[in-house]
Amino acid sequence: QTIGDYFDTIVARHPDAEALVSLHQQRRYTYRELQAEVNRLASALLGAGLATGDRVAIWSHNNVEWVLMQLATARLGLILVNINPAYRVAELEYALNKVGCKALVSMARFKTSDYLSMIRELAPELAGAAPGDLHCARLPDLRTVVWIDEPGAGAEEAGMLRFSALLAHGQADDARVRAVAAGVQPCQAINIQFTSGTTGFPKGATLTHRNILNNGFFVGEAMKLTDRDRLCIPVPLYHCFGMVLGNLASLTHGACIVYPSSGFEPLAVLQAVQDERCTVLHGVPTMFIAELDHPRFAEFDLSTLRTGIMAGSPCPVEVMKRVVGDMHMSEVTIAYGMTETSPVSCQSGTDTPLAMRVSTVGMVRDHLEVQIVDPDTGAVTARNQPGELCTRGYSVMQGYWGDEAQTREAIDADGWMHTGDLATMNEEGYVNIVGRIKDMVIRGGENIYPREIEEFLYRHPAVQDVQVVGVPDTKYGEELCAWIVVKPGQSLTEEGVRKFCEGQIAYHKVPRYIRFVEEFPMTITGKIQKFKIRDLMKQELG
Ligand code: ATP
Ligand code: MG
Repeated sequence: QTIGDYFDTIVARHPDAEALVSLHQQRRYTYRELQAEVNRLASALLGAGLATGDRVAIWSHNNVEWVLMQLATARLGLILVNINPAYRVAELEYALNKVGCKALVSMARFKTSDYLSMIRELAPELAGAAPGDLHCARLPDLRTVVWIDEPGAGAEEAGMLRFSALLAHGQADDARVRAVAAGVQPCQAINIQFTSGTTGFPKGATLTHRNILNNGFFVGEAMKLTDRDRLCIPVPLYHCFGMVLGNLASLTHGACIVYPSSGFEPLAVLQAVQDERCTVLHGVPTMFIAELDHPRFAEFDLSTLRTGIMAGSPCPVEVMKRVVGDMHMSEVTIAYGMTETSPVSCQSGTDTPLAMRVSTVGMVRDHLEVQIVDPDTGAVTARNQPGELCTRGYSVMQGYWGDEAQTREAIDADGWMHTGDLATMNEEGYVNIVGRIKDMVIRGGENIYPREIEEFLYRHPAVQDVQVVGVPDTKYGEELCAWIVVKPGQSLTEEGVRKFCEGQIAYHKVPRYIRFVEEFPMTITGKIQKFKIRDLMKQELG
């Protein structure tokens, strides 16, 4: 089935149930109302000259328009391109051109970010262009720019269309929309998402209805979602986490989506959960920590919460205990995934023992396969032995947009997606993520997992944060290097670090190079870029 067909089935089942609440916009939709808006937008997009297969970018925080665009483009078989709202001019230019976007939908402003000014900087030609007929030197494929106006928004923007005006051009019941939708195939691409850029340049993963509709549905099943659930979604929609594990998990179960605010604000999340009686809350561990540590945390009644997804990075035990206890999320689940696999391949269940929810990412999801293989020989490793996690099934992307060679490198002839992550699987099938292959260090033929050393060094009372990487060495092939951020007001020397390791970890695991730094190179989504640390060390060491 396509997302459009499945959505219509759910609407027919629960027409008057609430589907979407955007608190910061003060807008609410039932399933029937949402469907009408989606159909109207689809009609308007056809009217604007967009056709199946065209790429349409959305550069916005979480709002109603995002959901409408997601569902209307899917209905027509247009390819929605998610652009991170943290991107700036050069990144926007790269993303739009990489996949040849014909239209761009953007929010106008957010806090100190002025999106419209950034667009005008890239496309000064807008000033003299008729809306929908842009010809721009730096963005050769782009014809249409739409800006999301809030009620009472001010002036017209030269060369651009208002979202509300675009929508007004559409018909709620348009025979052309039905005709186009009837030809859309489940295995057709409808979405391009860029990876985070943790290990290099972001890659555009091309995803189909089958990829993300199944992922949203099965992840929702793992949380036991029903039409009584209300999902608080503070995670961003430009990433699979919000768009698939939030929006699609909810819409495939007749549940209700609640957006507390545009960006992430812990107080707005707590307020939304209480006022909207949310049963589900998603987040990365850092978000849960910010909510738990908020000075007004105790004032809120969060007793309606039941489950949610925590994903993206490993969760500290103490945080998990408080999420389960103080936030009442006894059925919280942990997920592991990547953009290329739409995203989830492993997830814990609502009744997985807490110890396993803390130490593992659960087991492989229904109808998917996971195997752990030796990266050199390709042989499946013995239980508990680390190797590359490979996954196969409905979730694996179509490929990297416009990059056959890279796609063939990632997905082998048998359909296995090579994730580049190192993992172990125990006798029962629980999967544990050990690190990334690119980060593994081979010193004198000995495999060393940086995460093990990082976890050991974290235990030093003066260490606030630490990253361990391998740097080239003529004698051993590679040597270990630790970058350490020292806690404010504390001091630490190289000698001190070495003493701390002595007799505690094997000699070959003690970092040869130790550097004290203020911060690490990071992606705009907050992931640490080890390849940049390695590059800087290579320069330093010659
Ligand atoms: P790029 O591919 O551009 O270098 P990226 O891999 O960080 O960036 P994403 O697709 O957003 O981009 O992130 C997926 C990666 O995040 C996984 O491959 C894995 O390394 C990490 N990850 C995801 N979930 C978890 C988890 N629960 N525990 C540990 N690591 C996780
Ligand atoms: Mg990746």
